[in-house]
Amino acid sequence: MNIAVIMAGGRGERMRLSYPKQFALLRGIPLAAYSLKAFSEHKDIDGICVVCDPSWREKFTEITEKYCKDKFLGYILPGKTRRESSKNAIDTLYVRYAPDTVVLLHDAARPGVTDKIISANLEGVKKTGAACTAIKCRDTMCVSESGTLGEDVRRDNVVALQTPQTFYLGKIKEAHDNYEEKKKRGEFVPDITDDTGLVKFMGGKVVTVQGAFSNMKVTEPGDLEMLEGSIFENEVKKEENI
Ligand code: C5P
Repeated sequence: MNIAVIMAGGRGERMRLSYPKQFALLRGIPLAAYSLKAFSEHKDIDGICVVCDPSWREKFTEITEKYCKDKFLGYILPGKTRRESSKNAIDTLYVRYAPDTVVLLHDAARPGVTDKIISANLEGVKKTGAACTAIKCRDTMCVSESGTLGEDVRRDNVVALQTPQTFYLGKIKEAHDNYEEKKKRGEFVPDITDDTGLVKFMGGKVVTVQGAFSNMKVTEPGDLEMLEGSIFENEVKKEENI
């Protein structure tokens, strides 16, 4: 069983809109609709949950009704941070589904996810129980310290992480619990914002699968204009293998 979780619980304040960025229009269609449609149309996705604040659910339901009527499982409450939102999703699913259920966590703010990326995640997760969509960095990478360049970073070894991030439910539940327990015990825990970080923190291995530049996250106002001009599937074909 493969379940997608669309993470739409944030407010997206950097977009400076009066509503969350997942409702911003890209070619006349709300951002969140693109990923709902992609997961809904994928032959191996069995169900889709959406992390969304109750105050936005009525508006979100217009999107789910149109783009994923048959596979929609329900809403999950967001947390204060993205990590807390994904923890809520994992805890909720863990009550109902077996530990070997595959869960694909995806940012609603990444409309460029494709059938091919979803398939790559479903293959990748079989290797270690955790897979992350990633792309090679194109630019020269360097540490920046107080406005000046520091150490160079070897570009061949660096990837930019995207979503979906895909896990066996039992494994990602264990990773969240491990982090929370250590934090509660007062042990040092780094500030981890994404789910693959939690698996690595527990000592687990996360495999990378090929993403796409066009699977970028919409974060700032100009990002929408950038995506307007891209053709998602073609962009994916152009990417080099990681
Ligand atoms: O804020 P950021 O762009 O990193 O958020 C990535 C995704 O996670 C967005 O789609 C956002 O709606 C979601 N999110 C969430 N719960 C939060 C914060 C962000 O579901 N508390």
